[in-house]
Amino acid sequence: MPATSLRTVAEHQRAIAELIGSLAPTTLPVAEAAGLVLAEPVLAPESLPSFDNSAMDGYAVRAAEISTASDDAPVRLPVTADIPAGSPGGELAAGTARRIMTGAPLPRGADAVVEVEATDGDTEVVAIRTAREVGSFVRVAGGDIVAGATALPGGTVIGPAQIGLLAALGVGSVVVRPRPRVLVCSTGSELTDDPEPAAGQIRDSNSIMLAAAVEDAGCIAVRRLWSSDDVTTFLATLDAELDAGIDLVLTSGGVSAGAYEVVKDALGPRGVEFTKVAMQPGMPQGSGQYGGTPVVCLPGNPVSALVSFEVFVRPALRAAFGHPRPNRDVVTATLTEALTSPPGKRQLRRGLLDRSAGTVALTGPAGSGFLGWMARADCLVDVPTEVMSLEAGAGVEVWDLTR
Ligand code: AMP
Ligand code: MG
Repeated sequence: MPATSLRTVAEHQRAIAELIGSLAPTTLPVAEAAGLVLAEPVLAPESLPSFDNSAMDGYAVRAAEISTASDDAPVRLPVTADIPAGSPGGELAAGTARRIMTGAPLPRGADAVVEVEATDGDTEVVAIRTAREVGSFVRVAGGDIVAGATALPGGTVIGPAQIGLLAALGVGSVVVRPRPRVLVCSTGSELTDDPEPAAGQIRDSNSIMLAAAVEDAGCIAVRRLWSSDDVTTFLATLDAELDAGIDLVLTSGGVSAGAYEVVKDALGPRGVEFTKVAMQPGMPQGSGQYGGTPVVCLPGNPVSALVSFEVFVRPALRAAFGHPRPNRDVVTATLTEALTSPPGKRQLRRGLLDRSAGTVALTGPAGSGFLGWMARADCLVDVPTEVMSLEAGAGVEVWDLTR
């Protein structure tokens, strides 16, 4: 097949993004929404802080009454009460002070706090050595967020700080797009989970690897399945597990040009399109719907499978729950060695990125069977379709797999 008839990477990325689409928003408890994205803004149901309180351990006073205070002529005020955090502030009588702790409510009548360091710390009659302006060391109600204001805009990723703010505001649930739920299915009669594989058998690395990639993308790997290269078995395996709660079926293997291509043979006549993408690794790809559920079919070679996941599936899954950064960070780096790339294909090589030096070294050869090299890599080197060779020192775009 001439290179011109292959689908481009960008075309297949679009196809997968459209296939998976965007999940409908739902309401979730805040504790279950970490890593998800607000589908609508959160308005503050109350002000934060909700009452005027002290920013320091010290004394609540009327600023006007201590305006003459100095080291030589301290102002002495009787201390009428203690206000620990968590108790009501009460009312400050004229000519008195109350000892107040950080976070405790300012008593009515007080308009400033003098920090304990500017006093003698006495609990009966405190000597205040410094004047303080109205509002000193007072955290005013609404000083952080005013009731009714936007606490978090739509599109915010819910991380620890956001969860903390929602807890402070008493917001118990949020409207988010849910985590996509993915069924991962390995195929291949050679695969086994036997700790002692028989002659010709190998361990299934794709399903656990792709499930990990799904979870790393912020989604849920619902179950891992395995099927032999028998079409009837494969369809029965899928049919037994497919339900309305599955957003994507992700298969690996059985899509290329061999004699026993179970995924292609089973799903090709049932709504899934198999195409060749101008990419190395990962040329054979499939996508479509089976029984109304989106299906993406990745090639079987573990490196091809994981690179294909990075290129096509991860961005689409993250877009499906509204992530503002569906793609990996792309940086420009200088190649430390030369490389070659096949004509007419976009190549994604595995590499190690040195961010401080701005360089990238390749980890191993281009071949898709070298999972060991992929496991030593932390980035993908993106070699454009029209480029067939690059010298050491050339600038390349690099996908940082750590971000
Ligand atoms: P296939 O596309 O099914 O012909 O698979 C291509 C190559 O990847 C073969 O050498 C398979 O044995 C290998 N392979 C396929 N699926 C897996 C898997 N789940 N785990 C490890 N290797 C696999
Ligand atoms: Mg196979």
